[in-house]
Amino acid sequence: MRPFAYIRPASLAEAVLAMAEAEPSSDAILVGGTTLIDLMKLDVMQPSRLVDLRALEAELGHVRAGPEGLRLGAFARMADVAADPAVVADYPVIAQSLALAASAQLRNMAKLGGNVLQRTRCAYFRDPSWAACNKRVPGSGCAAREGANRTHAVLGTSEHCIATYPGDLAQALIALDADVVVAGRHGARTVPFAALHRLPGSTPDRETSLEPGEIIAEFVVPARSWTWRSLYLKVRDRQSYEFAVASAAVALDLDGDTVRDVRIALGGVATVPWRAHEAETALKGGALSQGAMQAAARIAFADARPHSHNAFKIALGEATLVRALREAAMMEPRP
Ligand SMILES: Cc1cc2nc3c(=O)[nH]c(=O)nc-3n(C[C@H](O)[C@H](O)[C@H](O)COP(=O)(O)OP(=O)(O)OC[C@H]3O[C@@H](n4cnc5c(N)ncnc54)[C@H](O)[C@@H]3O)c2cc1C
Ligand code: SF4
Repeated sequence: MRPFAYIRPASLAEAVLAMAEAEPSSDAILVGGTTLIDLMKLDVMQPSRLVDLRALEAELGHVRAGPEGLRLGAFARMADVAADPAVVADYPVIAQSLALAASAQLRNMAKLGGNVLQRTRCAYFRDPSWAACNKRVPGSGCAAREGANRTHAVLGTSEHCIATYPGDLAQALIALDADVVVAGRHGARTVPFAALHRLPGSTPDRETSLEPGEIIAEFVVPARSWTWRSLYLKVRDRQSYEFAVASAAVALDLDGDTVRDVRIALGGVATVPWRAHEAETALKGGALSQGAMQAAARIAFADARPHSHNAFKIALGEATLVRALREAAMMEPRP
C-alpha cells in the first residue's frame, strides 16, 4: 500500500473544512472502508489524503420516520436501517434492498453513503494490469467491450464504458423519488437522488454530480401513497451474498387492480441506477394484468444494447420486473 496522510474530523463542519481543499484524484473519504480499502489494496485508488469520517455516525447516523417521510443519515449503518421497524413497515423496498446487499459482516460495517457511492465491480476496472479502462485511466479504451462482459450493463451504456452500477439501495431510493442532501464548502444543497449518478457518456471516470469535496449528509424519502406497497426483487448467481445480475425496485398505488401510480427502478442491468419511466407510463391508469406487466417490461428494455456475453440479461430483467410487480400487487392492503 502507498503512504497517505490520515485525517479524522469529529463533526460535519470539521469534515467540510477538511474537504475544502480536496482534489478529486488525491483525496478519499473513508467511512466503512469496505469498498475503499479494497480498491486501495488493489492499487486502483491511490489517495494521498484519507479523510476518515467514521466519527460522523453519531451526528448523521439517524433513521427518522414521520408524517412527511423518512430521513436517513448517510452515516447510518446498512444493517441498522434494514432492521428499523418503521423502514420495514412503511418503506419495505429500502429495508429489502439493504437486507439483500452484501453479507451480514459487511452490512454491520458499511454505511448508506458509501453504499450508493461504491465503484463498479467490472473486473478490468479492478485490475490495473489491464491497460484499457476508461473509468480508471481516461482515454485508455474499454477492455470489457471485446472481453468478458457477462455481468455488464445493457442499458445506459456508451462506446466508452459498459460497466454495471453494482449497488442495491440506490434502486429503492430512485423508485421512491428520494432526495440527497450534500454538504460542501458553499453550504448544503439538496438534489434529486436521480441526478446523483452520471451516465458514462465519453467521461465514465466522472461517476457522480458531486462537486470536489462534497459529502453526502442525508437521504430524504417523501411519504407517498405508494411507499408501503413497495418491494425489491434481486436475482443473483448464488443465494449467498452476491451482486445482482438483475433486480427491480417497484412501488405501487392501486385502486382495486387499476394502477393509480407506479414507480420502477432496475438494477444489475444498467450503468447507473435506472428509472424505467416509459414502463411506468405504460402501466398508469390501466389494469395490472399479466399482459400489461409483460408489455411494460418489454418497454423497459426496448433500448437495451447487449454485448457478446450478456444478451440473457434482457429476458432475465424483463422477467424480474414482471415478478416484482406481481408480488407487490399481492401485498396485503393497509387496514
Ligand atoms: C464481497 C462483497 C460483496 C458485496 N455485495 C454487495 C451487494 O450485493 N450489494 C450492494 O449494494 N453492495 C455490495 N457490496 C458493497 C458494499 O455494500 C459496499 O462496499 C459498502 O456499502 C460501502 O460502504 P462503506 O461505508 O464501507 O464505504 P467506503 O468503502 O468507506 O466508501 C465507498 C466510497 O464512497 C465514498 N463515500 C462514502 N461515504 C460518503 C459520503 N457520505 N459522502 C461522500 N462520499 C462518501 C468513499 O470516499 C468511497 O469512494 C459488497 C462488497 C463486498 C466486499
Ligand atoms: S466497462 Fe468501464 S469500467 Fe469496465 S473496462 Fe470498460 S471502461 Fe473500464
